[in-house]
Order: sequence, then structure tokens, then C-alpha cells
Amino acid sequence: MNDSGILVVFSGPSGSGKGTVLARYFAAHPEAAFSVSATTRAPRPGEADGVNYHFVSRERFEEMIAQGEVLEYTQYNGNYYGSPAGPIREALEKGRDVVLEIEVEGAMQVRERFPEALLVFVLPPSFGELERRLTGRGTETPEQIAGRLAAARREIALAPRYDYLLVNDRVEEAAQKLGEIIGAAKCTPARNRELLEGFLG
Ligand code: ADP
Ligand code: 5GP
Repeated sequence: MNDSGILVVFSGPSGSGKGTVLARYFAAHPEAAFSVSATTRAPRPGEADGVNYHFVSRERFEEMIAQGEVLEYTQYNGNYYGSPAGPIREALEKGRDVVLEIEVEGAMQVRERFPEALLVFVLPPSFGELERRLTGRGTETPEQIAGRLAAARREIALAPRYDYLLVNDRVEEAAQKLGEIIGAAKCTPARNRELLEGFLG
């Protein structure tokens, strides 16, 4: 079967648990790579440059766009966010799976440019639970939470364009299921053309 890495796009509403599930996934899969995005937003307390994001100026980001250094990008809440292309290409060439945690617009750009990418959309068990998680996280004001819940409805409307839905009810199970989805995706004929050609000529 295909031993080369695949590009995985991981999206879902803020508060659905993307970060929590990915932390568990990477703990179990140290060979996989997380794509550290570039952003023009300011770091939040506890965030480190080069770990959570590459924090750059607007000028630098626009230069990255002009030079074709980002694989996809978007503007979100007045800031640029994008996935640096070089590290992704290098990791894939080494056979590593690469996970991009990005919003829906960027995900659709990836789908256009890389049809073989795997798109996974994370859902909370219910809308009420999403609200509880956002409130419990304690990182947003009530107004920001209301904004994120409205954004969640718009984002979930695009979930049918993804390959798989992942309901994050229990973190451990969701992380395990993500591993199973990635493993299954590597077995599709479209991602194993060379293997098939070896038989069919
Ligand atoms: P996202 O990265 O999608 O914005 P987070 O990973 O920050 O979401 O999770 C939002 C909040 O929900 C956090 O406080 C996190 O601890 C909590 N959380 C995540 N997954 C679960 C889960 N399966 N059950 C209960 N709480 C969860
Ligand atoms: P936050 O500011 O909360 O870290 O991220 C805001 C949104 O931007 C989240 O939905 C996150 O998934 C998305 N995001 C983070 N990095 C990228 C990126 O490189 N590209 C795109 N398109 N979205 C991103």
C-alpha cells in the first residue's frame, strides 16, 4: 500500500475541539507533521512563534502570497492566515502525513489544488455542547462567543463538501477515529495509482 504521506485538512467550528483532538492524535502519531501556519494576528498568551503559528507582519504575508510561498490563505477577522508551502512539500516528500488545521475557505482552495488531499470536518456532539465548550474554555467574551456560534452555522453548512465528518464526543475516541480515517484514505485506488500501474502496466 501507499507508504507516502497524505495531506490532511482538518476544519471545524471554533470550540469543536480541533486542537484537543489533534494534540491526542499527534501524541499517538509522532511521525505525522502539523503544518504551522503563518498569521498576521497577534500571539495570544501562551502562544509561541514557530510553534502555534509563524507570527508575521502584513507586509511579509503579502510578500509570501506574491512569491507563491503559501499553499492556501484567507483573511479571517481582519487578519491573514496561510499555510507555508515549503515545509508541507518537504514533509510529504519524506513520507510524513501532514495535517493542516485551517478554516473552510482555505480548505476549498486545497481541494482545488490538491484533489488527493483528505478533508475531515470536526463536529461537536450538538450545538448546545459547542456553546458549553466555548464558554468553558474561557478565552472569549460573551459577544465573541455569540459571533463564533453564528460563524459555526455558516461553517457547518460547508461540511457536506468534506470527505469525512468526525464527531468529537470523547476526545480519545475521536483521535483514534481520525487515525482510522487517515489509514483508510491511504488505501483508495486514487492514492495508489503507481501500485495499480505495476499490475496493469
Ligand atoms: P478548537 O481548537 O476547535 O477551537 P479546542 O480544542 O480549544 O477547540 O476545544 C474547545 C474547548 O472544549 C476546550 O476547553 C477543550 O478542553 C474542550 N473540549 C475539547 N474536546 C472535548 C471533548 N471531547 N469533551 C469535552 N470537552 C472538550
Ligand atoms: P485562531 O485565530 O483562532 O487561531 O484561528 C482562526 C481560524 O483560522 C481558525 O478557524 C483556524 O482553523 C484558521 N486558520 C489557522 N491557520 C490557517 C491557515 O493557514 N489557513 C487558513 N485558511 N485558515 C487558518
